[in-house]
Amino acid sequence: MHINTKCLQEGYKAENGQPRVLPIYQSTTYKYDSSEHLGDLFDLKAPGHMYTRISNPTFAAAEDKLAAMEGGVGAMFTSSGQAASMISILNIASAGDNFISLSEIYGGTVNLFAVTLKKMGVEVRFVSPSMTDEEIEAKIDDRTRLVFGETIANPALKVLDFERFAALAHKHNIPLIVDNTFATPILCRPFEFGADIVVHSTTKYLDGHAIAVGGAIVDSGKFDWAAAGKFPELTEPDESYHGVVYTKDFGEAAYITKARVQLLRDMGATPAPMNAFLTNLGMETVHLRMERHSANALAVAKMLKDHPAVSWVSYPGLEGDSEYELAQKYLPDGCSGVISFGVKGGRTAAMKFMDSLKMAAIVVHVADARTCVLHPASTTHRQLTDEQLEGAGVKPEAVRLSVGIEHIDDIIADLKQALEA
Ligand SMILES: *Cc1c(COP(=O)(O)O)cnc(C)c1O
Repeated sequence: MHINTKCLQEGYKAENGQPRVLPIYQSTTYKYDSSEHLGDLFDLKAPGHMYTRISNPTFAAAEDKLAAMEGGVGAMFTSSGQAASMISILNIASAGDNFISLSEIYGGTVNLFAVTLKKMGVEVRFVSPSMTDEEIEAKIDDRTRLVFGETIANPALKVLDFERFAALAHKHNIPLIVDNTFATPILCRPFEFGADIVVHSTTKYLDGHAIAVGGAIVDSGKFDWAAAGKFPELTEPDESYHGVVYTKDFGEAAYITKARVQLLRDMGATPAPMNAFLTNLGMETVHLRMERHSANALAVAKMLKDHPAVSWVSYPGLEGDSEYELAQKYLPDGCSGVISFGVKGGRTAAMKFMDSLKMAAIVVHVADARTCVLHPASTTHRQLTDEQLEGAGVKPEAVRLSVGIEHIDDIIADLKQALEA
């Protein structure tokens, strides 16, 4: 099936006489005829739901849809994108371990990595794509467990050089984890370019209507944990399950199974069935929306580039952009809806522009069907030091514009009148 068809047809499959549309199983609990059956579930010997903190038929169906869209062997929904990023790391790194991350990533992820994971004893080592392979490899040692990056960095809009970073990671027998939030599997499927694990903030385009915070982890099933010899938590007995060995008992789904039955169980960052239902609904139309978001954003980027009140425009789909070549290679179907640009006159002019918009709303969000704007330096990236801001590619005068799916003429008219003001 084409991915557009998968958006509609994968996941929930109604059987004879069942509801046509995915039901919301608003139940914490599941009934069993025998305690022996339930005991087998607790020992992971039989498949099935036992408690909604770990799994639930509504989010299981949405997970199957996303796994099919990304081309993975399994997916796990979480309560937020932050929880997905956190679990994706802690699933294979413990106190004393470290990992490599591109520095140009979402500000919330920078906080998670540099502050909270540090407190747990897991050290992040930031790298930049401008560094040579030798400089990056100098940061990898025998306790380095993974490499992390974003397909299209939020808000720096840098495109990940998948093949380069997958090769670097695999040379050292560690996986590449990619946050694919801005591209969605419609515009880029990281597993096709060597990534091993994908994470999402489903809050963004997958939902697409700004109604449900959520996250997801998807496992390609391709990374050979046993051969790598660095992941004892996956290859040695788990005492919390009477000695289950994930790579032996779950094969290529070892990583995603452990994430669920160990970390979702213990940390409880579980999605609500209602939110999974809403996200599932969003995923059914995401292929249509990404097409329109991308076309509208490219038209807006071209208009801004020629506008006298604009000092610079950053959009990977714009010819001449620093990311254009990488985008042509990895994002041939479109570069998503987010643009960043500078208003001449610096920080104050940027804020005046935003306050003059009539249709586009000032919100702490991106990837909504409605056009919206944000000033990263004073909001999402407020907690970062000047040095970290620079590392994340955020300029003080930068406006982050999330182009919606309204008619292009109305979007451009609103932006033009605000720039003139
Ligand atoms: C928003 C976002 C996150 C965090 O997701 P939440 O759902 O807000 O927790 C992570 N990564 C990227 C790229 C994001 O845009």
